[in-house]
Amino acid sequence: MNLRQPFSPSPSQAKPKAGASSYAEADGRPDDSTFDLAGWRQDFPILNRQVHGSPLIYLDSAATSQKPLAVVDRLQQYYLQTNANVHRGAHTLSEEATFAYEVARDRVQAFLNARQREEIIFVRGTTEAINLVAQSYARPRIKPGDEILLTAMEHHSNIVPWQILCQQTGAQLRVVPINDAGEIEWQAFTALLTPHCRLLAVTQVSNALGTVNPVAEMITLAHDAGVVVLVDGAQAIPHLQVDVQALDADFYAFSGHKVYGPTGIGVLYGKRALLEEMDPYQGGGDMISRVSFEKTDYNVLPYRFEAGTPHIAGAIGLATALDYIAGIGLNRIALHERALLDYGTQALAMIEGLRLIGTAQNKVGILSFVMAEAHAHDIGTILDQQGIAIRAGHHCAMPLMERFGVAATARASLALYNSRTDIDALVAGLHEVQRLFH
Ligand code: PLP
Repeated sequence: MNLRQPFSPSPSQAKPKAGASSYAEADGRPDDSTFDLAGWRQDFPILNRQVHGSPLIYLDSAATSQKPLAVVDRLQQYYLQTNANVHRGAHTLSEEATFAYEVARDRVQAFLNARQREEIIFVRGTTEAINLVAQSYARPRIKPGDEILLTAMEHHSNIVPWQILCQQTGAQLRVVPINDAGEIEWQAFTALLTPHCRLLAVTQVSNALGTVNPVAEMITLAHDAGVVVLVDGAQAIPHLQVDVQALDADFYAFSGHKVYGPTGIGVLYGKRALLEEMDPYQGGGDMISRVSFEKTDYNVLPYRFEAGTPHIAGAIGLATALDYIAGIGLNRIALHERALLDYGTQALAMIEGLRLIGTAQNKVGILSFVMAEAHAHDIGTILDQQGIAIRAGHHCAMPLMERFGVAATARASLALYNSRTDIDALVAGLHEVQRLFH
């Protein structure tokens, strides 16, 4: 097969309608021409660069997404025009920085449909948000014999903080199993909601499989059993419309860098009633109202949980990223990515010896796979030589890899700027892998 030749399914797979000239036309699903994909791609100048002499094909957005010009411009404007510390100075720059930082909080509140701005805590990312909940919420409340419920598809960020908590408190971890498609085993889940279970920590979308978990239903059942729920939204937030009130999540965590925003900034949403009862996770400036050597009074929400100088530019850049995707529309992004996922799934299924890991009914744009001939790391290296960026490894989900009996997978992950051309390049690259390993 020629490098980067368009994928076209065989007639038996595509079953086109009479007269239809392409697969997209045949099934009526959106293709690259349905939306202004070219315009979206122009918003990401990095996509114009070359890697090893080939145009960059970026298929690693689940690790971190590329940043649109709007975000980069906003960061530059902030540093060139405004830069000052927040909540401190009486001078104009500090007031402007504080205003922009707090407007960013309002923007996140609106994006998540949180009830109040006090429920939005800026943190470094999903990892810090989960550690905050483990230490500030769970640690003082969890007793020996209590159980923390996770699923078999959690990222290490949503495993290790709970293991540390268990060591500190004498609680135990319980794990909801998944089936071969990478979906929650529902009966096992309900059976694990015992009177010992105190907290469920579940990912909304698996980073290694793409599975979208039915978190709304899980939260309802957990609440019926008196269990508090934290949702890891790191992989959901760039793909799905998230409404924390509709979900009724007690805590919801996500990272800015996965949703077209800067690294080093993220969000913990928590229901106000829960946050009000929690002591701070870290001590320092800004999280206090009064300090003496005898005693410290803590600040009000949300500042109580934001010790030290925050990532001001990061929060502002994150708000710009959320505006950017809201401007395109999450529904359009989801439609485009879904069509691309279907296209990619069918294209990869035609490669002999390739096994897809993660075939859930409800998925976002993640294509994880292993090949008979080559190790995942070799696949990653060979593709990189062709300018194609994917991730190879255990994806910070070692227990999940074990569940599927593999040490590592190769993972192509999709974002709004990806196209069928990218998938065609991936397929051609994988044929090259096969050629080299034969
Ligand atoms: N949870 C999931 C599902 C993830 O995919 C990731 C990152 O890949 C994280 C948590 C951790 O995010 P961060 O490293 O931004 O804190």
